[in-house]
Amino acid sequence: MSPKEQIQSLRDELREHNYNYYVKDHPTISDFEFDKKLEQLKTLEAAHPEFYDATSPSVRVGGEVTKNFRTVKHINRMYSLDNSYSTEDLKDWETRIKKIVDGDISYVCELKYDGASISLHYENGTFVQAVTRGDGNQGDEVTANVRTIKSVPLQLKGADVPTKFEIRGEIVLPWEGFYKMNEEREAQGLDVYRNPRNTASGSLKLQDSAEVAKRPLDCLLYSLAGEHLPVKTQSDSLEFARKWGFKVPKESKLVNSIEEVFEFINYWDVARRELPYETDGVVVKVNSLRQQEELGFTAKSPKWAMAYKFAAEQVTTRLEEITYQVGRTGSITPVANLKPVEISGTTVRRASLHNADQIEKLDIRVGDEVYVEKGGEIIPKIVAVDVSKRPENSVPTVYATHCPECHTALVRNEGDAKHYCPNEMACPPQVKGRIQHFISRKAMDIDGIGSETVDQLVEAGLIHNYADLYDLTVEQVLPLERMAQKSAENMINGIAASKQVPFERVLFGLGIRYVGETVAKKLAKHYKNIEALFKMPAEPEKENLDLFADVSSAVEKKTEELTAVPEIGERIAESVVAFITDPHQLDMVKRLQSSGVQLALSEEQLEGQTDKLVGKSFVISGVFEMSRNDLKKLIEDNGGKVSSSLSSKTDYLVRGENMGPSKLEKAEKLGITMISESAFLEMVEGSNR
Ligand code: AMP
Ligand code: ZN
Repeated sequence: MSPKEQIQSLRDELREHNYNYYVKDHPTISDFEFDKKLEQLKTLEAAHPEFYDATSPSVRVGGEVTKNFRTVKHINRMYSLDNSYSTEDLKDWETRIKKIVDGDISYVCELKYDGASISLHYENGTFVQAVTRGDGNQGDEVTANVRTIKSVPLQLKGADVPTKFEIRGEIVLPWEGFYKMNEEREAQGLDVYRNPRNTASGSLKLQDSAEVAKRPLDCLLYSLAGEHLPVKTQSDSLEFARKWGFKVPKESKLVNSIEEVFEFINYWDVARRELPYETDGVVVKVNSLRQQEELGFTAKSPKWAMAYKFAAEQVTTRLEEITYQVGRTGSITPVANLKPVEISGTTVRRASLHNADQIEKLDIRVGDEVYVEKGGEIIPKIVAVDVSKRPENSVPTVYATHCPECHTALVRNEGDAKHYCPNEMACPPQVKGRIQHFISRKAMDIDGIGSETVDQLVEAGLIHNYADLYDLTVEQVLPLERMAQKSAENMINGIAASKQVPFERVLFGLGIRYVGETVAKKLAKHYKNIEALFKMPAEPEKENLDLFADVSSAVEKKTEELTAVPEIGERIAESVVAFITDPHQLDMVKRLQSSGVQLALSEEQLEGQTDKLVGKSFVISGVFEMSRNDLKKLIEDNGGKVSSSLSSKTDYLVRGENMGPSKLEKAEKLGITMISESAFLEMVEGSNR
């Protein structure tokens, strides 16, 4: 087989496996085999960039970065839906439409998936564009991100696929993936995502498609738009879409009367709890497209469809106590402790009250009868207080003034919704939490210590911070409960082995607020070692009489310096500066340093990295000798920035073969310097290598 045929056959095969796994939910090979074949394909594609194809299964891993999402006008407007909340509402709707159309009406009942609406465009069976709903008339183009969602087919199957059409649906984040993402966020001390819907729509707007690729998003489709489609009814549309390779949930049902619609609703109001993703209602659609046309639209929504919203189950119970939880970073969350009550099949005892403002807004008091709701959120919430039932002796809630764990006075920074316990160094949950974060898998990954061990070590007074870990001895830990010689040795060896963990993971492990895994990587790469990152600029001279002298303080200067690093925003910069101006933190980092922990990039990591392209922004377009990923890496290793679209901020366009005419035109218009691949290589390798 020629490389071209090999690539083709691997692509076909992987496409089929993707379909079996993500659409049919029925894989026929192991993940391991799949990954092996994908690797094979990627290697071949890298060696033969001339066969680049935007629909190859290899594009699912993402990589394209979009800085500003382009606004696109919808060819067919994306309407919203009228809502109904009762069978009467639906009966009224039926009466209204029966006055307009002749003959019997049948309906398709579908579930209303709670996610982000999306419009996918296909041409000649190939996925070409994805646009968000936006305001219905125009939305944002999020093609690069949607391409990474595995259940979106990049190439359709079947002889009857229309040459050009649009299909609409909902991007959802199934519960399982949502919980998993939250577990990881919790482990990093970040706030958890509130609900799958916001997380799904937020994901579509991430700039880095490789990040989107990591999120377990799914795409459920429900309607076709376009001209000359081979369908006469909504149920046909679903059937055809399914056949062409789209994921169309099988729960939808064709019925012949409004009474059957009610049955569908009643059934799914309960059964939906078993579905893998969140639904918030049912959408009822007139089946015949001819009748749909007759009915038409109001200014806002189709007259031929109606959403029925499930009532979020609500119960009342008594608020027994408000307690306060202290997180790893010291943030305080008030918790309502309720008289246990059953909602949607689970017993609820506690509900989050979020922050002081929320308590004030609800005017919630101990002893109150409260309405508790469990909707699309993981944590039940208190929606209101039944003031009529308030006991006479009730007193307004006074928010905690001191930390429940260490009794330090709480603080609330301007602009922050939450209070904090500032006692970072001695507040037990913060001390334990920081150490747990430090040893966690994505940070130092220390074998032989679990979170209970950390609790034990702290409680026994053996450690007070992560730096103390490196002074522990086998003899010291042996007396701990359930500790044997072997496990004690494992633990001490694991700690010693962590001295080899690379700098960026150590930096992440320090637990600087807002410095997650990715930010830590960016900072490590930019500053290369901890001295450079932590170095504060000199304070301006106080007696300087020159009005025009730069008198910004060291803190201001450092913050500015940090925000100049690609993808570091003000919030992160301020938090880093707060960390490096805190003597306690500096002291601990110094102790890590003397223990021999990696606080600089290794020789190997530094290899090939220069500052030659610092401050320069590149766009690459077309096909190149080397793979696009290598090209990107080369730019980034030399300090440059790669973005996906041309703007006035672009310095260079690296121009490959077969570059699109519109990009060329735009580059010319903006006066951007265009360079060839070899000229680029000259630029990075020419001078001092
Ligand atoms: P709303 O946002 O309340 O106006 O509801 C309209 C939205 O419901 C649409 O824009 C879709 O994103 C979403 N939706 C979810 N499931 C369906 C479905 N089966 N049919 C049509 N729209 C749906
Ligand atoms: Zn505290």
